[in-house]
Amino acid sequence: MRLGIGTILAAALFSGACAQSPEMKVIRAAAGAMGGKDRIQAVKTLVIEGEGPAPNLGQNVTPDGDLPVWMVTEFKRTIDFANGRMRTQQLRTAQFLFALATVQRQNQGLDGDVAYNLNLDGLATRASDAAAKDRRIEMLHHPLTILRAALDPSTKLSSMHQQPTLDVVGIVTAKGDRLVLTVDRTTHLPATVSSLSYNENLGDVLTETSFSDYRDVGGLELPFRLTTKIDKYPQFDLHVSKYAVDADAGDLAAPEAVKSAAPPVAPPISVTAEPVGKGIWWLAGSGNHRSILFEFDDHLTLFEVPLNEARSLAVIAKARSVVPGKPLTQAIVSHHHFDHSGGLRAAVAEGLTIITYRGNVEFFKDLVARKHSIVEDELAKNPKSMNIIPVDDELTLKDSSMEVRLYHVIDNPREGTLLFAYVPRDRLLVQADLYDSAWTQHPWADNFRWNLEHRGLKVDKDVPVHGAIQSYADVLKTIASTTSRSTQTAGAGK
Ligand SMILES: [Zn+2]
Repeated sequence: MRLGIGTILAAALFSGACAQSPEMKVIRAAAGAMGGKDRIQAVKTLVIEGEGPAPNLGQNVTPDGDLPVWMVTEFKRTIDFANGRMRTQQLRTAQFLFALATVQRQNQGLDGDVAYNLNLDGLATRASDAAAKDRRIEMLHHPLTILRAALDPSTKLSSMHQQPTLDVVGIVTAKGDRLVLTVDRTTHLPATVSSLSYNENLGDVLTETSFSDYRDVGGLELPFRLTTKIDKYPQFDLHVSKYAVDADAGDLAAPEAVKSAAPPVAPPISVTAEPVGKGIWWLAGSGNHRSILFEFDDHLTLFEVPLNEARSLAVIAKARSVVPGKPLTQAIVSHHHFDHSGGLRAAVAEGLTIITYRGNVEFFKDLVARKHSIVEDELAKNPKSMNIIPVDDELTLKDSSMEVRLYHVIDNPREGTLLFAYVPRDRLLVQADLYDSAWTQHPWADNFRWNLEHRGLKVDKDVPVHGAIQSYADVLKTIASTTSRSTQTAGAGK
């Protein structure tokens, strides 16, 4: 299924399908099953309300474990077809331990090519062009919108073929968005919509929304369950409670100030190098994902190649400039969460040996092997095999210049594959995700302290991947002063 649809999406679509084409026959039959072509094309607005779980990709306890889930309630998507506008509002509540706001209200808009987010006070700010494209495609992951698009004379249809119970049609919209629609050959109702996109960790990924539980809504057959997955991972399982067709959609236009503002671009990447001990540097700078550099007799070792290729290549270049003449040969990847393994492929492309917990090895092999053709990253351009050193319970890296001990974090409720580092000479702790000075709560602080005690470690200073460098005394003070606030509300997300 995945390969077939990917091939269709990747294929250039040459012929505009005429009214009698096999593609258009499938589309017209689907339109008929949903209430008729004219009825579908006459719809001006659609409001979808409901709720359901939205798993958090790349944040599971172990690579094969279930994803942690945001429970989405008060979901309301309003689509204004005539003006190409959409607004999605939702409340999401973390069903997992989380160190920031566990209740978040989100309010996101799309007006043509302009995406925007509204904060709790209703103040709108422009979102990126990538967000606009994502939302435009998300809008098409619904039977009504995809059929309206397919019936549009400027849309190209192609590649009609049959699967055992489905008819499959490739769709390229006037804006160049490529999707695949499958239609149930018995009921003629749309079964799925798929699209390809690029994910920094997973590479080329297929997002597929399945439609079921069709019911009559004022003469239209509409699905009351929309289940979306990205690659093999569940993304959102929307149970619709209510549709409103041609209700007053309100004004979904982006405010003038938003439209005239330039779309935000990613801030420039900077990497600083702060010495934190003899032969140890904290590589901070832009963002909140830092790396730590260790100097051994004849080589350098990085702790963490985080976030994505751009950040990690900048970190690697900085590491090499801090100690010129000594080769950087190793990268410790603290755990598999996507923001921490985002530089894995870059590190492999740069020839670094990966050191990580054994439970990450198979997953990392898969990440290195995945196809990155929509965006060709360094590893796609220059394929290399991965050298990997698995760590079981602990591993000591030691020569006459440096000793770094790596320990697996035991029994943490959020991190099953996490390694932290300890430098005995300086009583220095290097860790990711066990503690961040900026967290509003520390739900696994007891486990953090227990892991240090369990290893018999005396810590003077915490040099973290996230947050500020602090004395361990200040770490304990921060934890103690941060009351466990389980319910907070934040504004629009990304
Ligand atoms: Zn993290």
